[in-house]
Amino acid sequence: MATRIAVVTGGNKGIGLAIVKALCKDFKGTVYLTARDAGRGQEAVESLSSEGLKPMFQQLDINDINSITAAATYFKDKYGGVDVLINNAGIAFKVADTAPFAVQAEVTLKTNFFATRDMLTHFLPIIKAGGRVVNVSSFVSVRTLNLCSPALQQRFRSEDITEDELVQLMQQFVDLTKKNEHKQGGWPEMAYGVSKTGLTTLSMILARQLSKERPNDKILLNACCPGWVRTDMAGPKAPKSPEEGAITPVYLALLPPGATEPHGKFVSDKEVQVW
Ligand code: NAP
Repeated sequence: MATRIAVVTGGNKGIGLAIVKALCKDFKGTVYLTARDAGRGQEAVESLSSEGLKPMFQQLDINDINSITAAATYFKDKYGGVDVLINNAGIAFKVADTAPFAVQAEVTLKTNFFATRDMLTHFLPIIKAGGRVVNVSSFVSVRTLNLCSPALQQRFRSEDITEDELVQLMQQFVDLTKKNEHKQGGWPEMAYGVSKTGLTTLSMILARQLSKERPNDKILLNACCPGWVRTDMAGPKAPKSPEEGAITPVYLALLPPGATEPHGKFVSDKEVQVW
């Protein structure tokens, strides 16, 4: 039987590292810790090997399309594809950051929405039958959705929104922030939140697409929230450890063979949430 492969983005620290750790223990196959910086990635692999865990390493900067396509080609050629993909890499400006809102919007959406979408564009075709795809979004995606205009909320919740329409809406938000017109456009002043609302919506769109185009492959794709977790991103006051933050993403990654749900949902604490 072919080796089963799990790939985690942003695996060198925080929740991503905890996900890699948990998968090394519970996933029956080879786990790839990926990181944009090879030095930080290798260091993380070494730290795990001192605990007796043996992930492999692959460089993967989701903001670099060449890095994405090189990694996808590598996994396709070496293993015939990927069984589990966890899109965990993400960024957030600190509350105290003084960068203009328009800059924060552009930079945050670039990684959390557009680059994660690039990952999905290039990796979904190589996800094997029975595969699991997990997009690490946030509870902030729901809060932000509820702060959007009724018209935007209707689109994000609709079953007929297309990937193209979503991409246009995310781009519209970025463009409006540059003219300081996003509020008139129905958007809240939340760059991270909008990026994650986009990611949760994208997850729902792609799950519907998989069900339609590859029904026999029974791939399950979901978005989730890890909870509020003590990492460099969220700071030391958050209640959950990275290991606790990894629980829901890993649960979705290891949904047993034959499972039919959840699929196309937003999941927190292992429970499907209202969108
Ligand atoms: P973190 O400690 O800041 O780790 C973020 C990881 O993403 C790092 O490994 C970082 O790599 C990587 N990354 C950033 N940009 C990347 C890129 N272009 N290509 C590849 N990797 C990239 O944050 P975290 O708290 O573990 O967050 C992990 C995920 O959980 C994020 O998607 C975040 O939005 C989400 N989340 C976190 C919380 C929370 O309370 N912590 C709550 C809800 C959702 P470098 O080390 O190279 O920067």
